[in-house]
Amino acid sequence: MQRATNASSMKEQNRRLILSLINSGEHSRADISRATGLTKAAVTMIVDELIQNGYVSEYECNHTGIGRKPLYLKLNSDSAYAIGINITRHHYEVGIINLCGEVLCEERQRIANPKTTINSILKILNEQIKKHGIDNGKILGTGITTPGPVDYRSNTILSPPNFKDWHNLTLDFISNIHLENIANANALCEKYFGSCADTDNYIMLIINEGIGSGIVINNKIYRGNSGKGNEIGHISIDINGKKCECGNIGCLEKYASIPSILENTSYSSWQDVIESNDITLIEKEADYLSCATATVVNLFDISTILLGGDVGYKGELIGKLLSEKLSNKVITGCELNIIPIEKKSGVLSAGCIIIDDFFTRESDIT
Ligand SMILES: [Zn+2]
Repeated sequence: MQRATNASSMKEQNRRLILSLINSGEHSRADISRATGLTKAAVTMIVDELIQNGYVSEYECNHTGIGRKPLYLKLNSDSAYAIGINITRHHYEVGIINLCGEVLCEERQRIANPKTTINSILKILNEQIKKHGIDNGKILGTGITTPGPVDYRSNTILSPPNFKDWHNLTLDFISNIHLENIANANALCEKYFGSCADTDNYIMLIINEGIGSGIVINNKIYRGNSGKGNEIGHISIDINGKKCECGNIGCLEKYASIPSILENTSYSSWQDVIESNDITLIEKEADYLSCATATVVNLFDISTILLGGDVGYKGELIGKLLSEKLSNKVITGCELNIIPIEKKSGVLSAGCIIIDDFFTRESDIT
C-alpha cells in the first residue's frame, strides 16, 4: 500500500489515494486513516469535499454487533463518465463507462481510413451521449487504445506494423484525449476492474497476432524514458534464431505469437488448440513464454503475470505449465501467480486510462 503525506501541498495526491481506496472496497473514514497514515482530520476534509462534489456517498453497513453502525464510503457510479475508444487493425469500438467501470454502451464497426473512421466515431459518440442523457460536464475525458508504438504524451500513433494509414497521426478530434497502447490499458483495467486490485506490481501479456505487454510497478504503468518500452515480444529467446522486423534475432514474437505457434499445424486459432487439448503445442507455447517472462520476473522482481489476448482463453493449463517452467528459471524466490485473463470490453479498457487519471495521476484532471 502506498503511504500518504499530511503536507497540504499534497492534498491533490491524497484525494486520489482516498478515491482509489474507496474504489477498492468497503472502507470507513477510520479505515482510510489507518491504511494511508493520514490523520482523521485530513481524511474528513477530503472525504467531505468528495461528498460535496457528488463523487462519493456514505452508507450504513449491515453490522450486527453492538454499538453504532460504522458508515462506509462508496463511489457514486454516475457522478462521472469516461469515453472509451478501442481502434484495432480490423475494427473499432466506441462507448461510455461510468466511474465504477460499468459499460453503459458500446458499438463496434469495421475499420475504414482514418478520416472516415474518426467521423463515424464522433457521430456514434454524439448519439450515445444523447441517448443516455449524459451531461458533458461529467465526462472526465476520452481514453483511446490503438496498436503500439504510440507517443502517449502527444497522443500520436507512431508506426505500428500493418497499420500504415494511421502512422504519425496525432489524435485531437475530441477534447482531453489520452492515447495508450492496448497492453497498458488492459493492465490498468485489471487494477481497477479485474484481478489485480490488491497487487502493486505485475505484468500483463497480450498474446494475439503479436505479443504486447504492460508492466505495472508500484501501481503505475512503467513507461521508461520514451514510453515506447514494455516490448516483451522483442526479447530474444534464441541468438541463432529467426530474424525479426525490429532488427533483433530470435524475438519471442517470432515463436509464440498466435500465427507463429500455429505455423505448420492444422489449427486456425488458439481456441482450436485448447478445444483439441493439444498438450504438446500448449507446452511448447509455455516453454517459449517462460524464456522471456523469466527475464522480466528477474529484472523487475514481479511475481504476478497475467496472460491475456487469445492465450487467456481457458488459460488454466498454460498458466500451470508456465508457472512450473518459470519456477526453475527465476531467482527471485517469490511464489509466482500466473492468472489467465478472458478478454474484456475494449471500451472498458480504453476508458480505464481516464479512470486511472482520475484516481491516481497528479496532473490534468482536477
Ligand atoms: Zn523483434
